[in-house]
Amino acid sequence: MENNFDVIIAGCGAAGLYGAINLPASCRVLLVCKQELTLCNSALAQGGIAGVYKSPQDSIELHEHDTMVAGGFKNNPETLHILTTHAAHEIQAILDMGVDFDRTPDGELHRTLEGGHCRHRIFHHKDATGAEILDKLIRKVKTLPNVTILEHAMMVGMKKTGTGFSVNIMQGGSFTTYNSHFMLLATGGIGRVYSFTTNSKIATGDGIAFAYENGAEIRNLHLIQFHPTAFNDHHTRECFLISEAVRGEGAYLLNCKKERFMDRYDERLELAPRDVVSRSIILESRETKSDNFYLDISHKDPEFVRNRFPMIYEKVLEQGYDMTKEPIPIFPCQHYLMGGIQVDTNSETTIPNLYAAGECSHTGVHGNNRLASNSLLEALVFSRQAALDIAKKLPNTPSTYETAAFPTSPDAQKLPKGFRTEIRKIMQENYFVIPNKEKLPEGFRRIEEIRNQLLNGNYIVDADYVEAKSLATVAYIILKEVL
Ligand SMILES: Cc1cc2nc3c(=O)[nH]c(=O)nc-3n(C[C@H](O)[C@H](O)[C@H](O)COP(=O)(O)OP(=O)(O)OC[C@H]3O[C@@H](n4cnc5c(N)ncnc54)[C@H](O)[C@@H]3O)c2cc1C
Repeated sequence: MENNFDVIIAGCGAAGLYGAINLPASCRVLLVCKQELTLCNSALAQGGIAGVYKSPQDSIELHEHDTMVAGGFKNNPETLHILTTHAAHEIQAILDMGVDFDRTPDGELHRTLEGGHCRHRIFHHKDATGAEILDKLIRKVKTLPNVTILEHAMMVGMKKTGTGFSVNIMQGGSFTTYNSHFMLLATGGIGRVYSFTTNSKIATGDGIAFAYENGAEIRNLHLIQFHPTAFNDHHTRECFLISEAVRGEGAYLLNCKKERFMDRYDERLELAPRDVVSRSIILESRETKSDNFYLDISHKDPEFVRNRFPMIYEKVLEQGYDMTKEPIPIFPCQHYLMGGIQVDTNSETTIPNLYAAGECSHTGVHGNNRLASNSLLEALVFSRQAALDIAKKLPNTPSTYETAAFPTSPDAQKLPKGFRTEIRKIMQENYFVIPNKEKLPEGFRRIEEIRNQLLNGNYIVDADYVEAKSLATVAYIILKEVL
């Protein structure tokens, strides 16, 4: 197989796939993902994708205002304006690819409401929007002859060269170096740096760590969103999300006494933004000395609940709860990363020709806190921005490709077990919804120690090692920012 490409895209979630789709047909693209195509955060998205699209009762200004309110007015107005104004284009594009959004009985697209939005502007496919969008993006990308897709192909090394980039890809037990003039990092979030997260197991921050190691600017990695309503069985690492839309449709939050409590914390009650609700739950848990909390939609018509949330209904039923009849146990957990690899309006990082899009990037659109359903939109809008910018530069790229070396050591050792668990424990205990200021310095010292050991030790380069190094790097940057 050819080892030189115009563009290498690391990551096959919404950002990576949509970036590939929007590159010109003349552009030779290598698209890699470390597991199967469907294993990513994009596939888990439930609630939907926000956007002002053929909505006379809504406006760009209102969408921007809601996003700013949720983000504490720390959003980047320029990138936010790109996000909101491009939404209609991307929603139309994915509809054209066959994405099947729910419709009203008269055939109009159904728009739902979620916390923090002042208008019904969330387009959705029942409660499995991400899987639907991903399915149609995968179908589309597989029709493109200029795109080579490698599954179970993990980027385990990335280096700048004189003509672009070289990446070391591990597939099965073998390693191959591929070169390109441009790179798009679309490697997703960092959820697995916590003990409890809604994120899929690929979310170990690999792209962020490689960008950092190559000298790219990383910004606001400490801006982490903790979702207030993850299903809480107290021991599963990947916590099943109970979508924001359940509160949007009128569910109540209850404390351990099965009493509503949000009126003590915020006048928007259950529809307050995620950070406010998560914080309220933690404060209420301190008051009640219990971490038993519930989400209750049993007062709504059971038929409506089953139809509107079929996936959530089935998932919690498997765990022994019928949400049409009883409250579901919930608790906050890590959900989303607002910070990431710093990019400009074209999604270019501080390293020329290195682009980043989706959850691994920091466009600044979310400010301090992401408004629900803005992230799928961000992944589409800004991966297309990257593709458009690369397309402009393509005619002026060199015809040669330099190759970097990824040396291996014959006496390298398998990474001992335990590093990842320890990193997660430190993050969960030190930097959860309300940071533990007293423990932070000690946590940071230990993370720094682990990271140095991983960087300087003579370890076999495999998935365990690369992910542990990524988690240590991500934890190191987060804690360094907040100390
Ligand atoms: C449970 C859940 C529900 C959500 N609900 C919503 C919602 O309703 N609306 C909304 O807007 N957002 C939602 N989000 C957030 C949204 O889904 C994500 O932010 C977005 O889909 C991220 O897309 P992405 O392409 O950046 O990353 P991902 O979709 O996570 O894709 C990352 C890709 O990178 C690959 N990768 C990672 N590391 C490597 C490596 N070293 N080598 C090769 N490949 C690698 C992975 O294999 C994967 O293909 C939700 C998230 C979760 C977890």
